Amino acid sequence: SAEETRRDGLHFYTAGSEHDYGSRLVLEADLRSACRDKQFFLVYQPQLDMHSGQVIGSEALLRWQHPDRGIVSPVEFIPVLEETGLIREAGAWVLEQAVADAARLRAKAYDLRMGINLSAVQLRSEQLPRFLRELCRRHDLPHHRLELEITEGTAMHDPVATRILLERLKSLGFSLSIDDFGTGHSALSYITAFPMDTIKIDRSFIQHITEGRKQRAIVTAISALSSQLGLTTIAEGIETERQRDYVDALGVHEIQGFLLSRPLPFDEFEQFLARHGTASARPSSVRAGKP
Ligand code: C2E
Ligand code: MG
Ligand code: MG
Ligand code: MG
Repeated sequence: SAEETRRDGLHFYTAGSEHDYGSRLVLEADLRSACRDKQFFLVYQPQLDMHSGQVIGSEALLRWQHPDRGIVSPVEFIPVLEETGLIREAGAWVLEQAVADAARLRAKAYDLRMGINLSAVQLRSEQLPRFLRELCRRHDLPHHRLELEITEGTAMHDPVATRILLERLKSLGFSLSIDDFGTGHSALSYITAFPMDTIKIDRSFIQHITEGRKQRAIVTAISALSSQLGLTTIAEGIETERQRDYVDALGVHEIQGFLLSRPLPFDEFEQFLARHGTASARPSSVRAGKP
């Protein structure tokens, strides 16, 4: 079988294995069961503030516990959820769960920013702002603690409509970030027209940053642009200390990646926070614990 287990422990099925497994129709049917039988769960990956050296936020990432296949990567099933429209239901569940978990952490004095990925289909829903407001009200989570991640590709798909929705979300106080920045076919002028708070530099630029002059130039430019616009810059996919030191030198504000931690199930994430402390929670005791 062409199945591979990635370094992050997720099963990833290459194109060839589709034949082994059956077909796209099987995948679709399985995804319907997954929505019905609640086979999804979230994992959380911490984000570190380079200035304070403390955890400042996290990103919620979707996982599918398939009854036979084990844990399936979102890279495989998110596109199918989108094409079938099942993303509406699954996406609403993600929002609900991530907000509930953010509120649970906040109740324990881990007052983190919680990043949630939104798909293009969700962004087309006029009910999204009301849904989010209601969710935050119910869980008593301040709007600015939620950071909605939109990929560059999604934003550029229908820039006019996206901008209107983002302005609305922004006016309600939600934080907004542009994900996988640098990979889409975007006009920079458009990106600057969106009311973003954060730019997430795509992992593909980070991967070769220590040996590639071009990658370094791109990260330097994005970081400078982002800072000039008053935005927070996050580097995704930081795996080594050298990569961390490079992006730090280039003025990137925050890092996310395996160096700090893999995405973790809620309980393990909470244990991670207990060990590392957070920027906004119990600062005195956290600092007191440092040499
Ligand atoms: P993304 O939003 O850019 O998320 C970052 C991805 O990079 C995650 O992959 C994460 O596990 C991975 N990653 C983090 N640090 C490292 C590292 O140091 N090295 C490497 N090699 N990878 C790292 P994941 O969890 O497989 O998610 C893939 C994509 O699926 C996400 O990319 C996002 O676009 C999408 N996705 C995940 N959850 C959701 C969701 O709830 N809703 C929507 N619409 N999309 C989601
Ligand atoms: Mg993301
Ligand atoms: Mg990304
Ligand atoms: Mg990505």
